[in-house]
This record gives sequence, C-alpha cells and structure tokens, in this order.
Amino acid sequence: MLDKAKSIADEIVRLRREIHRHPELAFQELRTAALVADTLREIGGISIRTGVGITGVVGEIGNGDGPTLGIRADMDALPIIEATNRDFASQTIGNMHACGHDTHTAMLLGAAHLLKQEFANGNLRGKVRFLFQPAEEATGGQHQSGAPMMIDDGALDGVDNVLALHIDSTLPSGQIAIRAGSSSAAVDSFKAWVTGTGGHGAYPHQGTDPLWMLIPILSALHGIVARKIDPMKPAVCSLGVVRGGTVSNVIPAEVYLEGTLRSFDPGVREQLLEEVERAVGLSRALGGDYRLEIERGYPAGYNDPTVTGWVEQVALDMVGEKMIERNRTGMGAEDFAYMAKRAPGMMFGLGAAINDDTKRGHHTPIFDIDESALPLGAAMLAETARRYLAGELK
Ligand SMILES: [Zn+2]
Ligand SMILES: [Zn+2]
Repeated sequence: MLDKAKSIADEIVRLRREIHRHPELAFQELRTAALVADTLREIGGISIRTGVGITGVVGEIGNGDGPTLGIRADMDALPIIEATNRDFASQTIGNMHACGHDTHTAMLLGAAHLLKQEFANGNLRGKVRFLFQPAEEATGGQHQSGAPMMIDDGALDGVDNVLALHIDSTLPSGQIAIRAGSSSAAVDSFKAWVTGTGGHGAYPHQGTDPLWMLIPILSALHGIVARKIDPMKPAVCSLGVVRGGTVSNVIPAEVYLEGTLRSFDPGVREQLLEEVERAVGLSRALGGDYRLEIERGYPAGYNDPTVTGWVEQVALDMVGEKMIERNRTGMGAEDFAYMAKRAPGMMFGLGAAINDDTKRGHHTPIFDIDESALPLGAAMLAETARRYLAGELK
C-alpha cells in the first residue's frame, strides 16, 4: 500500500499545496469543501454529501455487507500571518494552515483514491465513510466546532469505528505516534469579573479595590494544580487575560480575567471548575464580588485499545518498530474526541519534521512540514481500512 501511495505522491502534494494557498477559517471552508467534493467525484464510485455540519463533506464508498469505518480529516486554517516564504504560501493574508489540516485533507483524498482501487479488486466487505470536517480550531462549546455539528447532521450514523491522524511538525519525519487511552485533553475556559466599588487612588480606604483582591485570587488560581489536584492526574490552569484600570489615580471598579483549563480525568475536570469558582470567590471575603462564566469545550480524547491495536499492526508492517513512537501525549485538545465518543476509534500521529535545526511548531507563522511523509499518512489510513474491511484485523 505504501508503494501505491508513493505512486500518487505528486497528486497528494498538489492537493496539499492548493489547499495551503487558500486557507479558510472555521465554517468558511467553502473553497476547500468544493475542492474535496470535486476530487471525490473525479475518483468516482463515491457517494457525496456536502454542507454537512455547515461546510463539511461526507463521502462514502463500498457495499452493505460489512462494517463501516469512518475516517476523519479536518479542513480549517488559523488566523495567523504566514511567514514561511514558500512559493505555495497563503494567498489570503491573515489566514494560514498552521496546524497541518491542509495535509490531513490531502492525505484523506489520497486514501480515498487508494481505497477506490481496493474496492475495484472486489474482496472488501463494508463501507468507508470519508469525513471532511470543518472548524476543528473553533475551540468552544458543544455546538461551536465542526465534529459535533457533523454528528448532529448524521455524519456518524451507522459508523462502527472511527479513525483520524494528526500530522506532527515536531516528530521525526516518517514516525508514527500511537498510544492507547488518553489522546487529547478536555478543554474548558472561564471568564471572571471581580468587582468592588473602585474610587480615588488617594483614598483607598473609602471603597473596595478589585486589583488588591486579585493578589490572593491569582495565587489561589495558580495553586489549584499544585495544591488541590491529585499529582498523578494531569491538569493545567493557565490565565490568558488579566485586565483592569485606566489611569494611575483611579481605582477601577472591575477587573477581568480569562483562563483555560485542561484535564484528562472527568473528576479532575469538574474539580478544576469548582476550584476556579472558589478562587475568584475570595473577592467576597475582601468585601467585593464576582461573576464567573464557564465555557465547556472539547471532552478528553480516548483511543480505544482495540482500534489502537489495529493501527499498531499496520504501522509495524509498514514502518517497523523503530519508527513507532509510543509515549507521545500532551494537554492539547482535539474535537475528534466527540467522534471517538460516538464510535470506538483512535487518532494517531504522523511525524513530518523538516530535518534541520529550525523548530516549526504548530500554530506558529513558520509552521511547515516535510511533504515526503504525506504518502505514508495516506497509506496508513488506506491500509487500516483495507484490512478492516477484508476481516484481517483482530
Ligand atoms: Zn491546531
Ligand atoms: Zn490540528
């Protein structure tokens, strides 16, 4: 399968560059969706649904005699000004494919091409559903990102298992990262308004000062993970915004805070929310008040051990033990978690670091990848699907 994928490498790279040139933000992926639908139509034998979850595209190939495997690729870009100087760099200033979702879409189109050939050979039973998803980066509540919107539109109805990959610009090119269990963190965010009366800077005793109340509140917030959460369970509480006041001699009446919370364990997730409330509630002990808004984001991602075992078998045969990385995990969030909650599934990582001294991290203006890893990604998806439908995976 890897050889077959290499034979269409030029086409996968062409698609990737075409999408990279025209990055579109969450739920605006109209041009990308049209390219996806056109490409699926050219491949042929694939039923196509557009406008799924606003701008998503679902393609399906196969027959009714077996299970259905869903394979997901996200299509959205980020609001970043690209600084790679590549000749296929973004032509939409301010938007950039800085997380590699362009490569995901191109690799899944490559896999569709490869699977079309396999179905033509006639020994596969079942279906593969290609899930081209919008708005993975729209971190937010239940209905603010692409995966739950696709699910609401029926994209996963009848799907028995789901699969996805994420490119990794920091992992050596050609490595496959596989790990059963926790694959991405749950993310929640909070906004807090700490209030007092404010007043004249020369007469602080005549009012209540929310800036002063921040002293124990910030300390308490940063103490949550260190002093309240079980040290064996990962958690993050980070502040991203602290805003208050206008001039030196006026005590403001309000201070505004924003932060993000990450966790794997559902109990820790709830505990973080309670502790944030308790921390900002310290304002009341000091004569002030607060208002707290919680926005629940993506759940934690879970790689099903059985499905993970299938991908591992394919990776062992395709790249060998030396090229498998088994300990890769982090506190990043992924809305594929919603799909893996609907049907047992897994997301694996595909290493694609450019081999030099520059670090090209995800979500940075110089994000870039080694395109020679792309056929491997397409081959991993297609071969896992082929074995799944040929009944070769145990
Ligand atoms: Zn991202
Ligand atoms: Zn991503």
